[in-house]
Amino acid sequence: MSEEFDNPVYYDDDADASHIDSKTVAVLGYGSQGHAHALNLHESGVDVVVGLREDSSSRSAAEAEGLRVETPADAASEADLVSVLVPDTVQPAVYEEIAPELDAGDTLQFAHGFNIHYGQIEPSEDVNVTMVAPKSPGHLVRRNYENDEGTPGLLAVYQDATGDAHDVGLAYAQAIGCTRAGVVETTFREETETDLFGEQAVLCGGVTSLVKHGYETLVDAGYSPEMAYFECLNELKLIVDLMYEGGLGEMWDSVSDTAEYGGLTRGDVVVDDHAREQMEQVLEGVQDGTFAREWISENQAGRPSYKQLRHAEKNHDIEEVGEELRGLFAWGEESDEEQPAETPADD
Ligand code: NAD
Ligand code: MG
Repeated sequence: MSEEFDNPVYYDDDADASHIDSKTVAVLGYGSQGHAHALNLHESGVDVVVGLREDSSSRSAAEAEGLRVETPADAASEADLVSVLVPDTVQPAVYEEIAPELDAGDTLQFAHGFNIHYGQIEPSEDVNVTMVAPKSPGHLVRRNYENDEGTPGLLAVYQDATGDAHDVGLAYAQAIGCTRAGVVETTFREETETDLFGEQAVLCGGVTSLVKHGYETLVDAGYSPEMAYFECLNELKLIVDLMYEGGLGEMWDSVSDTAEYGGLTRGDVVVDDHAREQMEQVLEGVQDGTFAREWISENQAGRPSYKQLRHAEKNHDIEEVGEELRGLFAWGEESDEEQPAETPADD
């Protein structure tokens, strides 16, 4: 264990497999995370049963890998640990099906804290509630495991009914390969709120907004859409790759002095104190549950705004230009390798 940071980090030596290898684990869902957890657990010697609806198109994929498949309720009934890896928006409904099958001392395991943190699932007090959340899409969790490598992950215990919930979570993290890389201790609250904030303000929302505004600024000033696309979207990958490898410093070291000076003097002009205040607003909406309530009722209403926003985003000029350009150049193909080709179709 490392205590260098605020949150402890655990490795293989900290985990004790006996907390999981005597258990039957039900993995509900066989999508991005589900297929990876099920297969990694199975190959780590854990007794796994996959829980899928009777009509799920993933059934044959799971069975072809030698996994047993039952309905979610039947899988949960025979399991001591139930890993909930169906989409977050359908978890409350699936939980209703499996709740009667949870016995005292069972463990309910998640890969994201949303439904527990915002009270959409309220497990009884006699079960453990844990989270092991790999910080990667499922196809990488699976590929790393197969290559004897690890995937960094998070571990949190929301409810410890048996007194060893933490050990159970750590053993689960080991069995899916996360302790090979390192597992950071967190809480359901911290994981949920930082995850939502990150994807809204920076990763998914912030970046796409920055890219679109940059593109529109150039095109509106009379520059060609192709050049605007290259400058504001395509080159982003090169910059992000450098930051991923060696932080902001490696990026600044790798670009020209002109780019470095221009970036250091103009970046804060664009993303300024106002943007920072807006980020605080977004964070507040995550913390006080406004966003969660909005998203839950959006789903209950059949996702009207979501569909509209998605449609508008798909029809933005930058998407049309991008599609044409990616067709003309070879770089679109090399990224194929990164796609979760082995992930069964979502149903
Ligand atoms: P997914 O959408 O890839 O797959 C979900 C699977 O659930 C489907 O393939 C299907 O087998 C099943 N399913 C779908 N609808 C269902 C229904 N109505 N009833 C029963 N089963 C149904 O989901 P995912 O991305 O693997 O997410 C699972 C969990 O993992 C979520 O809590 C998510 O937040 C978390 N997580 C995902 C990632 C990621 O990169 N995808 C990373 C970390 C954590
Ligand atoms: Mg049970």
